[in-house]
Amino acid sequence: MSFLERDDPEVAAIIENERQRQVFGLELIASENVVSRAVMEATGSIMCNKYAEGYPGKRYYGGCEHHDVVENIARDRLCSLFSAEHANVQPHSGSQANQAVYFATIQPGDVIMSQSLTQGGHLSHGSPVNISGKLYDVHSYGVDYETEILDYSAIADMARQVKPKMIVCGASAYPREIDFKAFGEIADEVGAICVADIAHIAGLVAAGIHNSPIDVCRFTTTTTHKTLRGPRGGAILCRKGDGPLIDKSVFPGLQGGPLMHVIAAKAVCFKEALEPSYVEYAKQVVKNARVLAETLAENDLRVCSGGTDNHLALLDLSDHGITGLEAEVALGCAGITVNKNTIPREKRSPFVTSGLRVGTPTVTSRGMKEDEMKMIGDWIGRVLKNINDKNIHKMVKEEVSELCGKFPLYPDAV
Ligand SMILES: *Cc1c(COP(=O)(O)O)cnc(C)c1O
Repeated sequence: MSFLERDDPEVAAIIENERQRQVFGLELIASENVVSRAVMEATGSIMCNKYAEGYPGKRYYGGCEHHDVVENIARDRLCSLFSAEHANVQPHSGSQANQAVYFATIQPGDVIMSQSLTQGGHLSHGSPVNISGKLYDVHSYGVDYETEILDYSAIADMARQVKPKMIVCGASAYPREIDFKAFGEIADEVGAICVADIAHIAGLVAAGIHNSPIDVCRFTTTTTHKTLRGPRGGAILCRKGDGPLIDKSVFPGLQGGPLMHVIAAKAVCFKEALEPSYVEYAKQVVKNARVLAETLAENDLRVCSGGTDNHLALLDLSDHGITGLEAEVALGCAGITVNKNTIPREKRSPFVTSGLRVGTPTVTSRGMKEDEMKMIGDWIGRVLKNINDKNIHKMVKEEVSELCGKFPLYPDAV
């Protein structure tokens, strides 16, 4: 019996239910992944007991000697992973990494330019309901209506007009490679600070499959838990000269004590991402996404922008008269977890949407390859074509669960 089962059977039972859901379901949410046992062990370790406000060698509490070592290792590994000069591994999340960069460099009321939330951007890039949208004067750029791809000359024109202090690039629901160099050049031309948010694609950048913003954008922010496959958290990368500015902004500017158990787990994740096997993993993520998108297209589903270069694809369901919400619910009944998503040509509200976002990081971590992607794509097609047929959803769920049985979440665990 575990300590949790003994001391809190109620929560233990919930966690067991969630374990079953993860083990027997197909997780296609593009921002999720499955961490290694080592990452999980570090996250659940005794490092969680310590306050370590400050930075290695400059803490506000005693007893931080081991925390200093692990935070230095995490910073060094992250710098080598991305060939960066300076890393801050303390942001509690991707959103806080972004806030820290804004807080370090711009003033309330300043003009920023970022990708619109409905066309793939992120809440923390200036959505009106987010603190970023309340503090700054946000101008959003989108994708081209026809191609559904970023149009850099249109973005440059907009930058010349609105003269932003900052340009934020990077997205949560954009299936194509982002040209960070183009963004850096646009920012330089108009005298703006360029921030690249690689939260989703960090693992692909680390593996060299996606171009890197490090030398071409002044600041790079990321999460550590999406393609990078680490614990939930954020990080910031920049040049040495900007290091003190960023560090001061994260602490004491924005946060109190760092989550040292998470920083230990980040260090473990960065070590894993530096291994050749991680590069193989990241390549497979992209191959899988391509095959999944092709299979969905063969099932008469419209894939936005005509395909994918990264770990995710966006589907436009409007031709079939179904909403993203209906599709999310039906696929959920079939054991396939996806999220409804607004699409570039969206006509519905963000709670309903006309689209779905599907991603391959989690299924690839389970060892699934091209053949399994074809099966999954066909199952999605079958469910969406029979959106109200509960029997078909149940039949697909049985097949899903059989496939999942062959690809255990944690092969080394009981
Ligand atoms: C997920 C994401 C974030 C924020 O991550 P949280 O850790 O959930 O705060 C920031 N930017 C982008 C582009 C993201 O996709």
